Formats: sequence, structure tokens, C-alpha cells
Amino acid sequence: MVLTKEYSKLKGFRKEVRNTHTCPICQKRINIGIEEKLLQQLEKAQNYPYPHLHLHGEPLHAMLCYIDGDMRIRGISGIKSLEFLRDTNTLQQILRKWSNPY
Ligand SMILES: [Zn+2]
Repeated sequence: MVLTKEYSKLKGFRKEVRNTHTCPICQKRINIGIEEKLLQQLEKAQNYPYPHLHLHGEPLHAMLCYIDGDMRIRGISGIKSLEFLRDTNTLQQILRKWSNPY
């Protein structure tokens, strides 16, 4: 499946998914967006649906979303069990992702 031209024309860093989504753990509505650069790679690969992980909340947890080629979430799972590799490279990558809006 190929993304619609409507999405391909949009400029910016992030594309919002189309449908609404509530975290199954905290019940909050979460805005999900895909980084533009990554979206272009995913469009080339055409491997849908692809997983997208959103970390949030206290205690920290995650919402795993599967997103289809038409920018709609097809499935959601909540993840309470998280683990980070405790090395400098991982911390640097987390901070890099944090400082980059998406
Ligand atoms: Zn949540």
C-alpha cells in the first residue's frame, strides 16, 4: 500500500496519524506522529502495519501501536515492562531523541 499524495505533499518533521487512540494502561488520549524522514523510509519499504512505540506516564510505560499505510492505527498494546540497557551510548541516544522533537 502506498501513502496518499495528500500525505506525501505535506512538509514538516512529523505526520499525525488519522484516528484517535487511548492508552490501554493510563486511559489518556495520546497524539501519535511519525517522523517525516522515517515515514519516507517506511513508505519505500511498504511493510505495513509497522510498530510505533510511545513512552509516557508515571510510572513510565509504553503504548505499542501498529500503523497502516493510510496513517491509521490498527492495533494497540500497553507495555508496563520496560528495560533500558545501562550504557552511555543508550543514554546518549535517548537524550538525542528527546532533544529532537520527533
Ligand atoms: Zn499510558
